[in-house]
Amino acid sequence: MFQKIIASIIIFCSLFLFSCHDDSNEVSLAPQLVENKVVSATAPDFNADNAYELIKQQVAFGPRVPGSVAHKKCAEWIQKEIKKYVDTVYEQKTTVIQPISNVKYPCINIIGSINPALTKRILLLCHWDSRPWADEDVVNQDKPIDAADDAGSGVAILLEIAAKLKTTKPDIGVDFLFVDVEDVGKSELENPSNDITTFCLGTTYWALHPHVPNYTADFGICLDMVGAKGAQFPLEGYSAHNAGDYQKRIWDIANRIGYSSYFSYLAGGMITDDHVEVMRNIHIPTVDIINLQPSGGFGKHWHTHQDNMSIIDKATLKAVGQTVMQVLFEN
Ligand SMILES: [Zn+2]
Repeated sequence: MFQKIIASIIIFCSLFLFSCHDDSNEVSLAPQLVENKVVSATAPDFNADNAYELIKQQVAFGPRVPGSVAHKKCAEWIQKEIKKYVDTVYEQKTTVIQPISNVKYPCINIIGSINPALTKRILLLCHWDSRPWADEDVVNQDKPIDAADDAGSGVAILLEIAAKLKTTKPDIGVDFLFVDVEDVGKSELENPSNDITTFCLGTTYWALHPHVPNYTADFGICLDMVGAKGAQFPLEGYSAHNAGDYQKRIWDIANRIGYSSYFSYLAGGMITDDHVEVMRNIHIPTVDIINLQPSGGFGKHWHTHQDNMSIIDKATLKAVGQTVMQVLFEN
């Protein structure tokens, strides 16, 4: 994903049919829950050591570039892992086309559902593919990256949460959505007006063809780049505009349980990420938890060969994993 320019903000807002500053209309597109929540039982303990090992296992496959052997092996591995913990697993296999390069990519979305019959649901999602290039690096720009953080960290946190929910089952439905082909998009230089969606292709497919007919959830949480040392999670802009009540609830929980040094209430940028396509195409208000540095950007390792195991910090994994788990147990 990337940080958008002002023009793209206007385009996105027009896709939502209403202007960014019209709060009352936003509610109708992404209805937000405003009832008082009761602080309930403490969530199970999120194990950051396990999550760290789950990132290592992904990196060991090699770059999970769509169409590669590593990609296929990782898809099989995610399915094998999530099957241990949830009631139902769905696999979506299709082909998507990057609209600027016109390259076709095999796309495998994997969904694991807990309590699939319940109507009260929370959607947790992250992408699992890795970027085919290191276009933000100064060397070997045409080589794929390890992608420990982008997106190994999100996958690892979701799998570790699923493992904990196996023994402490929540009284709501939870869907784990691992989306493919997020990261083959073109930079702003190649797509200056940003009027074509070149990122998040797997999510767009899923949102238009959900794994069960008429699928919906109360709200969603999207994780992206959630494992690096020094990560900061300010309030991402599209989430704030379209899922602000949920975003506030998540940040309040994070701050209450001790992670204020990660989850700040500062305004972050407007980020093209999977949550945008979920809100645009299936109208589930969805909050992005994504590393946005105060100096701008996603951290120096973003889309470079520095996105490897050395950047991963168990303390960051813990902050995000425990926060998301607590959100599940306060619903
Ligand atoms: Zn990326």
